[in-house]
Amino acid sequence: MSSLAAARADNFYYPPEWEPKKGSLNKFQGQHPLRERARKLDQGILIIRFEMPFNIWCGGCNSMIAKGVRFNAEKKQVGNYYSTKIWSFTMKSACCKHEIVIQTDPKNCEYVIISGAQRKTEDYDIEDAETFALPADEERGKLADPFYRLEHQEEDLRKKKEVEPLLVRLQRVSDSRHADDYSLNRALRARLRNQKRRVEEEEGVSRRMGLGIRLLPPSEEDAAVTAAVRFASKFDRNRKNKRAAIMASSIFPDSSASASGSKRSELESKRRKIKATAASASLAGRVKPLLWQHSAGFVKH
Ligand SMILES: [Zn+2]
Repeated sequence: MSSLAAARADNFYYPPEWEPKKGSLNKFQGQHPLRERARKLDQGILIIRFEMPFNIWCGGCNSMIAKGVRFNAEKKQVGNYYSTKIWSFTMKSACCKHEIVIQTDPKNCEYVIISGAQRKTEDYDIEDAETFALPADEERGKLADPFYRLEHQEEDLRKKKEVEPLLVRLQRVSDSRHADDYSLNRALRARLRNQKRRVEEEEGVSRRMGLGIRLLPPSEEDAAVTAAVRFASKFDRNRKNKRAAIMASSIFPDSSASASGSKRSELESKRRKIKATAASASLAGRVKPLLWQHSAGFVKH
């Protein structure tokens, strides 16, 4: 038997040992056509995919399991309703591995939760939802009964009288809206034609401008914004550029242009230090301010 799950699932792989006289592939390999799903068949359990028919609360961790979530469930017959089998589905919730048991209820055409979960209550009041309750089949049958009719006729008539003015008004509104369907249709078509024409015009304009997109119609607001924009003149630009160049350059005169950047800055800091000491010394009157004089050029004593 091939160990490749996909090959087993397809059931198309015929091993070399197989011969037609050995029967079907399943028989040859001694397996059930449903494979793993039939592994508990001797206990009357078939493993199927079960889809949750309504929203439920998990009994283990109280989280919600939504309608439509699927489970691998063990399906087995637990009884009969007349000749209809009652099936039970046992599954483990994905959230906390809690066991949930759900059964079919053929009498009410429903699923009922037996254990492990709680159905989320989503029933609502008819009045809250502002709808009408349609008469159930039983009640509809009863209407053929003259006594039932007699008992309920009074109330039905009263209800009719109550809602009649409203119904008449709604009918009138609806009639007035749809009375002249020719002109309604005409107006609608005219609007669509106008729209089409406008789109064509706009496309033509954008084509002439060499644009690949359709421009929106010009608006006053846009015009005001564009008028407020001022582009810089050549003079402004030059002034700005010059100022930027000045701001970026060193404030010290560039005497040793040949020296490398780091060496130059080192020299400059040294020179600054010497100037500072010389200045303070000359102020104290201790040393002849040779350096100071030299650098300043025209200081006289
Ligand atoms: Zn859970």
